[in-house]
Formats: sequence, C-alpha cells, structure tokens
Amino acid sequence: MRETELSAHDFVLPLFVSEKLEKRRPIASMPGVFQFSLSEIADEARRAQDIGLQAVLLFGIPAQKDEQATGAYAENGVVQKALRAIKAKCPQLVVMTDVCLCEYMSHGHCGVTRIDGDHFHVMNDETIELLIETALSHATAGADIVAPSDMMDGRIGAIREALDANNLDQTSIMSYAAKFASVFYGPFREAAESPPQFGDRRSYQMDGANAAEALREVALDIDEGADIVMVKPALPYLDILWRARERFAKPTAGYHVSGEYAMIKAAVEKGFMDERTAVLEVMTSLKRAGADIIITYWAGELAEWTRN
Ligand SMILES: [Zn+2]
Repeated sequence: MRETELSAHDFVLPLFVSEKLEKRRPIASMPGVFQFSLSEIADEARRAQDIGLQAVLLFGIPAQKDEQATGAYAENGVVQKALRAIKAKCPQLVVMTDVCLCEYMSHGHCGVTRIDGDHFHVMNDETIELLIETALSHATAGADIVAPSDMMDGRIGAIREALDANNLDQTSIMSYAAKFASVFYGPFREAAESPPQFGDRRSYQMDGANAAEALREVALDIDEGADIVMVKPALPYLDILWRARERFAKPTAGYHVSGEYAMIKAAVEKGFMDERTAVLEVMTSLKRAGADIIITYWAGELAEWTRN
C-alpha cells in the first residue's frame, strides 16, 4: 500500500574536489563530508558507483582565484581534470558538474561584478559569456549534465545554444531554476570556499517569500531548454517543488542543502533524534512532493538504507 518508495537511483552525491589538497580534508560544519584531492576523486566516484548510486555532482575548488574566474573554464582546471579522471575510471557513472563562477572569483560572487560607489552590480551578460565557456569546457572534459547554479537571466538558452553549436548536443542541462537566497547555504560556503567578500547574493538569488516568481523562473528555464529543473533548498521549499512538478511535469530535482544536513547532524550528535529514521522521513517527503532526483550529502548512506 506504500505509495512512495526510495531507492539508490533517487539520489545524487555532491563531491568536492580541491586542487589545493594532497589528501582528503573533513568539512567541520558538515560531519562526514570531505573535500577530496585530485588524486582521490576518481576512487571516490567509483565508490559511489559501487554502492549503487548512478550520479554524482562535482564542485571544484581551484588553487588560484581571480577577477575573471579563469579557473572555471581552464582546460586544465580542477573540475576538468577531475572529470577526465572519473570518466577514465567509471565511464558508466553519470557526472553532473556545477557551473558557476563563485568558487573561482576572488570576490566570491557568482558573476562578473562592477563596483559603483557604495554599490556593486553583477553584470548579467558578461557573466553569461564566462558561464558558456565553463559549460563547454566541462562537457568537452566528459560531463554528462551541466548544472548552472548562478541564477543569471538567459543563461540556460545561451548554454544550450553553445553546446549544440559545438557538437555537444548530448550534454543535458540541469538548471538551478528556483534557487532561493537562504541561510541554509552557510556550511556549503566552507565546503566550496566561496563566501562573497562583500555584499550578498540577494540581487540574483530569489526571495523566499515569492512562490509565483519561482514558478516563472522555472517556466523560463524550461522554455530555454533545461532538461531537469531544480528547487533549492529542498525542505523549506517543499511547496515550490510540488507546484513545479505538478505544473510542468518535467524531471524535477530537489537539493537538500548543507544547512539542512548540518541541522539534522547536530540534533543527532546531541542525541535528540535517530539519524537514519530522520533522513528517511525527510527524503520520503521530498520524493512525495515531486522530486525525481534528490541531491543529498547522505546519498551514500541512503544507497545502503534503501537497499531492500
Ligand atoms: Zn555561485
């Protein structure tokens, strides 16, 4: 009689790869989550495949940052090297890559910025040019799915067009379609080493109070050619996930983010709740609300917990 069943195929594991590391480094605010070195990342991806996961989502941390985010689209950038290593070791594994500039920008914003007195602006169209370069270089290095997380206007259509024009029409796009400005991203910024050095991301991420706007953003990304649309964070925006899945009937992803992870981990450490029971309940709620894909730091454990 059970309506919602979870399996390993529902989950995508985010993986952080750092050019600065010789060996894995734990992320303090996310117990059990690591940054991996380039020499370890393919083994880690292989481990994910061996426990039954079908996909990973790759984030890179470069050795150098600059004002043009050159590491994001360098042929020998950290993600590009990691992709080639992973695809050599486990060609069957679906590799998704985060396409954004914030990890590679010295100022930590998701786009090219211009300071204007007391204000700063993120330059939408200049940013899109660099996002196109990034997506093309990931696809060329072996990414199956590119996942733009920047929230610039018009970037999905521009990336789709560039991929198609470069014989990369088999590369899919998962768009961070409704990405809300959220306190729950806090721990991730330690993981990805990408906190903004000034200002915040409220000018390009969404206001958590706006549901109709979120649906318009999702509609735009679908029109521009997104194959999968994502709602992020997941649990505080379950209603958006539900409405997006119901309205558009597109493959829909929910990103259960670092703060959502850290919150349960902290409660578990204090003995306030059982980890496995709590995580399974949350993941069931996400799938019930319409998530075809759930991106979660518990993907590895969930592959085991849902085995029967
Ligand atoms: Zn970003």
